[in-house]
Amino acid sequence: MKLEREYFEIFPLIVPADTETTITIRGLFDHCRFRDGAEYEVTYYPKEYWDDHSRRKTFTVRAQGDALVIPHHFQEEQEHVFHITEDVDNGQKPIGTFYVYSLYSDLFSRRPYKGDVHMHSYYSDGRESPAYVAASCRKVGFDFMALTDHHRYAPSLEAKAAYQEVDIDLRIFPGEEVHPPECHTHIVNFGGSFSVNELFKNDEQYRREINGLIDELSPLPPRVDPYQYAAVFWTFEKIREAKGLGILCHPHWVADRRYNIPQPLLDYIFEQQPFDAFEVLGGVPVEDNNVQVTYYNDQRARGKQIPIVGVSDSHGCHQRDQFGHFGDVYTLVYSPSLELQDIISSITALYSVAMEIMPGEEPRVYGPFRLVKFARFLLREYMPYHDPLCYAEGNHMLAFSAGDREAAHRLAACKGQVDKLNKKLWAK
Ligand SMILES: [Zn+2]
Ligand SMILES: [Zn+2]
Repeated sequence: MKLEREYFEIFPLIVPADTETTITIRGLFDHCRFRDGAEYEVTYYPKEYWDDHSRRKTFTVRAQGDALVIPHHFQEEQEHVFHITEDVDNGQKPIGTFYVYSLYSDLFSRRPYKGDVHMHSYYSDGRESPAYVAASCRKVGFDFMALTDHHRYAPSLEAKAAYQEVDIDLRIFPGEEVHPPECHTHIVNFGGSFSVNELFKNDEQYRREINGLIDELSPLPPRVDPYQYAAVFWTFEKIREAKGLGILCHPHWVADRRYNIPQPLLDYIFEQQPFDAFEVLGGVPVEDNNVQVTYYNDQRARGKQIPIVGVSDSHGCHQRDQFGHFGDVYTLVYSPSLELQDIISSITALYSVAMEIMPGEEPRVYGPFRLVKFARFLLREYMPYHDPLCYAEGNHMLAFSAGDREAAHRLAACKGQVDKLNKKLWAK
């Protein structure tokens, strides 16, 4: 972590664009405190419009108590740089460089929430219990999660029930990975109020509805199997009926040396877009994700608007291989709140990015340009505050699910910490 983040605090960190906001910078410890009444030099410039010399400025600020208080008109949506130095006998001594981000109102009114909506427990082919997976999600900094076991919806409800007696900030939502019979396409039902997998038990009704759809949906392109497309279409319709988010999963996951979804079918699915969101990053090898990202970029270049998620598809919380990258691949949603319908509608309204942070590597972020830039700022300047709060709560959740009843008190003390942080870091 940068020393500025260790020694100082700056707030607010996120401000409205084209508005004057007063920024406060404080040194937190004796070795870095501003001295009341002393003068400091501030060099300011915007990150994107720096060639406009009228905007770049250097000025002197006198410390008020232990703080520098700087009113500034933040122009446009972008990052802003404040470089602070102090006059000493032999020149200028650098104090630190501080960053602030200004946002247009649609993004300013939202908060960034991290989550994974495609994971497995031991009820399908995963390793751990739903309660363990949920606590582990909090430990790695997630604000929301959903378990999505193959063919099974109940484990996602068990994850929530495991923490019914305690008040936690992690939001645990229902989910399942849906597999229509004889259909190769994998689909995640995130947040749906009922199980779509359960509907396949009434095979007669399913076949009747599918046969009706096959008549209705034709003519299809020659190499698209009518049943395969109808099953996919039907599943996304049912997920929408359940008020869930229907996610098209890992088309370029290589299983048995072939892609999961045949190309003509995938192209037709993108032409029709029956899905709500595309899993642009899954917990599959980098090679497969690379192909998916490229496919997504090509589709967007054709003018398609494609809501996206990044997921770990993890089968174990300590596994970081071709069977999942727990904690390393996730979705960042800019949403008005953590309520399920806000998260879902924010994803469908294109307010999400897919994050990929492989161990020991630089983060990679995918999605719309303005959202990616802001996500990079958040990774540097905000997540170092956010993630440790989640880590603490996650540890207490683990202890609680291991039988430590005292952990309930520690969880109560954690309650509302992220909210409190956000209130401080977002301008009023
Ligand atoms: Zn799958
Ligand atoms: Zn899966």
